[in-house]
Amino acid sequence: MDRKRLAIDGGTPIRKSYLPYGKQDLDQSDVAAVVQVLQSDYLTTGPMIDTFEKSIAAYVGSRYAIAFSSGTAALHAACFAAGIKENDQVITTPITFAATANAIKYQGGEVVFADIDAKTYNISAEAIEALITDQTKAIISVDFSGQPVDYKKIREIANRYQIPFISDAAHGLGAVYEGEKIGSLADMTMFSFHPVKHITTGEGGVITTNNEQYFQKLKNFRNHGIVRDQEKLHKKNQPWYYEMQSLGFNYRMSDIHAALGVNQAKKIDGYLNKRIAIAQKYTEGFRDFELLTPPFQLEGVESSWHLYVIRLHLEKLTVRRKEIYQALQKENIGVNVHYIPVYFHPYYQALGYKKGLCPHAEQLYEEMLTLPLFPKMTSQDVSDVIMAVKKVLQYYEVRA
Ligand SMILES: *Cc1c(COP(=O)(O)O)cnc(C)c1O
Repeated sequence: MDRKRLAIDGGTPIRKSYLPYGKQDLDQSDVAAVVQVLQSDYLTTGPMIDTFEKSIAAYVGSRYAIAFSSGTAALHAACFAAGIKENDQVITTPITFAATANAIKYQGGEVVFADIDAKTYNISAEAIEALITDQTKAIISVDFSGQPVDYKKIREIANRYQIPFISDAAHGLGAVYEGEKIGSLADMTMFSFHPVKHITTGEGGVITTNNEQYFQKLKNFRNHGIVRDQEKLHKKNQPWYYEMQSLGFNYRMSDIHAALGVNQAKKIDGYLNKRIAIAQKYTEGFRDFELLTPPFQLEGVESSWHLYVIRLHLEKLTVRRKEIYQALQKENIGVNVHYIPVYFHPYYQALGYKKGLCPHAEQLYEEMLTLPLFPKMTSQDVSDVIMAVKKVLQYYEVRA
């Protein structure tokens, strides 16, 4: 077979223009929604927040949804509501964005990294169980790439040890586990509305829960720990009076962001269907192509396809992931790497985490590449990615 000259060696790139790995999709109705709120009486703490929260709760099927200024703020609030304090251990995955672990550190907790399952790349329930101690005070799982974790097994472990189960479902809006949407399978579930996620508010996040007590704590935490409900105040019958009963933050979402969210939320299923179709096209395109493994598709779950992560068969290639990444970038394909294992970051290394801690995660990190995946991608865009990946990998294929 002829090897086509790569763009990185002066050949013609597969694409003329750069294709990013993720991008928001905003139309005129989104713009109109934001303009309308700008002309209204409330820019923050207004009616849009409630409307947005209700639309997310209705979509995922949870009793409550509490909006925050970011997904990270929402995770921090969940750690607070779960009662995480100084030196409490919280088990999570290293294959996630740093925010998942950072939320534990914000509360002074100790992050305990459990290794991933080598097939699904999600946190392994067995690895979680092996790390439980008397100091374990919560579990935070991540539905990596949109594929739900083993909710049943993790739920069972959390129940047995009587600890809260928090789900970072930043990738998981619309994902389904055994017939049920992600959003109330854990005690608290976080969704993020950063522009690369399923829908966007610019910045923003939400916690969904069915638990009244968590709901109250989350609401207070978002607004400085301030309580106004007469029933819950120490002093009563003073109409101007409120109390700050715990140390909270200003983690409120503005009505400007929420208005965008309300309009975006109407389009969740449309976006989801586009993501599913793109993922299917990739998987078909790579069928019988032996230089990579496409994402593993579990029985009984429906991924929300936030990311399409391929695993390179490095033993069949003459170069490492870095060269493949660079060559694809030169073909104008915006590949990415999700994620650097969290404990590789200097901040965590300085806390004493050693390389070798989670071997499956570390091996995956050497071999993984994220391909572009967002609703606005055209059929041609998807074909370009498939062609470019094949061109680059075949170029570097080991020859007998
Ligand atoms: C995006 C993301 C977050 C953080 O959400 P923000 O809204 O950007 O703060 C946390 N965890 C994961 C897995 C994410 O992908």
